[in-house]
Amino acid sequence: MTALLENPTARVKWLAVPSSAAWLEAANARPDLLLIDHAHCERKAAGVALQLMFRYPSDAALAEALSPLAREELEHFELVLQVLERRGIALRPLAAPAYGASLAAAVRRQEPHRQLDALLVAGLIEARSHERMALLAAHAADAELLQLYGELLASEARHFGLYWVLAEERHGREATVARLEQLALVERNALGGELADPHGLRMHSVGVAGG
Ligand code: FE
Repeated sequence: MTALLENPTARVKWLAVPSSAAWLEAANARPDLLLIDHAHCERKAAGVALQLMFRYPSDAALAEALSPLAREELEHFELVLQVLERRGIALRPLAAPAYGASLAAAVRRQEPHRQLDALLVAGLIEARSHERMALLAAHAADAELLQLYGELLASEARHFGLYWVLAEERHGREATVARLEQLALVERNALGGELADPHGLRMHSVGVAGG
């Protein structure tokens, strides 16, 4: 499990642009809404890891990396659930932002491209979560939230590191770097524009520097 323990991607630049001050402001204006969405994100992240294990059932090394990742995401899900419960906030379904669908649409259908893209899209989502959680760990609305996001940061960084390693091992460095560059632009475009409705605030709602 060395891949999960170290962070070999400190040298890899995932995100094409940073999040905007407007996103952070919207997030701090609706911490309850963000927490509910965060719970869903952690559960979805576990689902993504499991889905990949089901899609490539004979890749033992992939399962060896993704199974603990899925467990860790579920632990985070449980942690966020506890915070929701302490605050008397009911978990409820939320409409997903366009972000996930925009990224999913960029995944090519044919193998081996499909796998490379799926790993990189999963990594990009983790990288954006990490970047936004880092903002929250420094600027969240209250002490409990500052602590929650601070605690989650290190593992989120490991998560996108892991997806990088899985992609590079299976598809080579050159192809991985080239495709990441393209998908990072898709990711940036998926977060372009301004939030029309403040209730649409999500962990992955629009809001990046430069619009
Ligand atoms: Fe994660």
